[in-house]
Amino acid sequence: MANLVKLNTNENPYPPSPRVVAAIQQAAQHGLQLYPDPDGSTLRQAIARHLDLTPQQVFLGNGSDEVLGHAFFTFFQQGCPLLMPDISYSFYKVYCGLYSIAARTVPLREDLQLNVADYAAPDQAVAGVVIANPNAPTGVGLPLADIETLLQMHPNRVVLIDEAYVDFGGHSAITLIDRYPNLLVVHTLSKSRSLAGLRIGYACGQAHLIEALNRVKNSFNSYPLDRLALAGGVAAFEDQAYFEQTCQAVMSSREGLALALEDLGFVVLPSQTNFVFARHPGHEGADLAAGLRAQGVLVRHFKLARIDAFLRISVGTPEQCDQLVAALANLVTIKA
Ligand SMILES: *Cc1c(COP(=O)(O)O)cnc(C)c1O
Repeated sequence: MANLVKLNTNENPYPPSPRVVAAIQQAAQHGLQLYPDPDGSTLRQAIARHLDLTPQQVFLGNGSDEVLGHAFFTFFQQGCPLLMPDISYSFYKVYCGLYSIAARTVPLREDLQLNVADYAAPDQAVAGVVIANPNAPTGVGLPLADIETLLQMHPNRVVLIDEAYVDFGGHSAITLIDRYPNLLVVHTLSKSRSLAGLRIGYACGQAHLIEALNRVKNSFNSYPLDRLALAGGVAAFEDQAYFEQTCQAVMSSREGLALALEDLGFVVLPSQTNFVFARHPGHEGADLAAGLRAQGVLVRHFKLARIDAFLRISVGTPEQCDQLVAALANLVTIKA
């Protein structure tokens, strides 16, 4: 179908900064016959500057999914289960399967909030902890005090915080890195920097964790980021104004979208991300997703226990949000 309104994979509705596109065009004209820098030094420096870290505290990968894969391989093959929320990013279990790591899922509370006290366990009984903060697909964020509690509970295990959505109003654990040798924070340029197509992700942590990741990465692929990605990534961090402006636009659309959904009778979880997670008391999630699809609007529905009433709706442009709300209004019975 032409003109689909695509609100199902949490891409940014805005294109990347024009400076990113210019840098990629420039890089394409010089040196593509040569291998890229295997250490991605220019990009690691740009990221370190942006986050007030050192380049030795930054590890690069071909999208954060690859970074997560290397981190699971490097840190979580401990012969005991890895703790993660029952409702979280689906890829965590995929990596556990690949590396034969047992996953111990910890249920979110009834209201889909995470309770850190549920993660208490002796270090020797667990491989580590992985959570997304803000969580996906709920959009709900944890305060930094809770992250610190997790880090203190497991001083001899890596606690991996996947902050794919943190730039849309979350609280980043990057500021805790110097105090916690067991903290690894993973970021992506796919969401808040509009570069899902370029494939850049990175992990931040103390140098000993980054060195361990580099040893694994160099045994898989010495050159995970190509010359175009390195050039575009550096330019993305040089255009702070564009970044802030597009994040603000997404966050302001999100608030308008949440209100419009509530007007239609939806229950909307508080979101610190570029999507909303919402259910309607009078309708099945699967029916609403199918009804939207028939009108050319794609959203994400998970056929999973506890969340199958919900729709995960990426925040689009104001026009896309309006189209979504109009299509939903055709489907839900509004109580007078
Ligand atoms: C989108 C997403 C990723 C993957 O991002 P890429 O960098 O595009 O691989 C990782 N974790 C979470 C929670 C995500 O939503």
